[in-house]
Amino acid sequence: MSAVILDGKALAFRIEARLPERISALKDSGVEPHLAVVLAGDNPASHVYVRNKQLACERCGIKSTRIDLPNDVSQEDLMRVVADLNANDSVHGILIQSPTPAGTDELAITEAIDPAKDVDGFHPTNLGRLVMGQVDGLLPCTPAGVMEIIKDAEIDLLGKKAVIIGRSRIVGMPLALLLAQKGIDATVTIAHSRTEDIADICRSADLVVAAIGRPATVQADWIKSGATVIDVGINRIVDESRKSGSRLAGDVDPSVSEVAGYMTPVPGGVGPMTISMLISNTVRAAEMRLG
Ligand code: NAP
Repeated sequence: MSAVILDGKALAFRIEARLPERISALKDSGVEPHLAVVLAGDNPASHVYVRNKQLACERCGIKSTRIDLPNDVSQEDLMRVVADLNANDSVHGILIQSPTPAGTDELAITEAIDPAKDVDGFHPTNLGRLVMGQVDGLLPCTPAGVMEIIKDAEIDLLGKKAVIIGRSRIVGMPLALLLAQKGIDATVTIAHSRTEDIADICRSADLVVAAIGRPATVQADWIKSGATVIDVGINRIVDESRKSGSRLAGDVDPSVSEVAGYMTPVPGGVGPMTISMLISNTVRAAEMRLG
């Protein structure tokens, strides 16, 4: 068996292609959706992520403003930038690129963002809405992207077993809530580094989502024949044969494609979907402001 590859990049473009109509309607009402991205420090991966997010804004016709801050930025300065963006009526979405520099408190910064501008969907108010089953607001981008991939492939999870490996507040935990929500109705297990017999747990699953951050952790003999495997992981691997000297790999071993029914690639799977969900959230935030 060879898995059907779920092309997140193509889906992301299709989702982005639906946005200009909504953006035009906003502009007709005098509102130009505007995303502010705060990039503190010199983390090379963060620079690439921010660049990709700005390119997506350009593609869709959304205004983006980038605020660069030095590596030694203080917590007070970061909080002041957030307060200014909260008070700026022309800004609809605020994104603080993670990780913030050492010595700063990322959670406190997240909590300082106006929940109505929290296009990452990480503010306790937005995560709390998710716990309450309210999924019409600003959802965390990566979990929302995973759900769009599942929906687009028409994978029915009603009564099915889903295993998420990883319990982070940005991926694993919110995704568990989305998969267990009424209307999706999966039965969700959250596995993590302390989980015993993780391969056994995965073997009974109809859906396995890997959000670990360790290359090739999920092996072919962990996966039930025909199951869906979503690879959230992004790991940079040294590869001397490449001009860049490295390549990206997921958390799932490529051999899994011989067993799974559906599988997302890395790159080109969940990553582009995360960005298109960010853009969608920015448009949504602007629409919510209009009422
Ligand atoms: P994280 O906060 O570091 O969480 C990783 C989770 O994996 C933790 O819950 C950890 O368990 C668990 N884990 C670690 N080693 C494990 C093992 N050997 N077996 C089972 N579980 C294990 O990471 P994250 O922010 O959720 O990100 C996870 C991966 O997704 C990373 O590669 C990241 O780059 C990628 N990512 C991709 C996107 C995208 O757009 N595609 C977006 C966000 C993140 P403990 O809780 O016990 O430590």
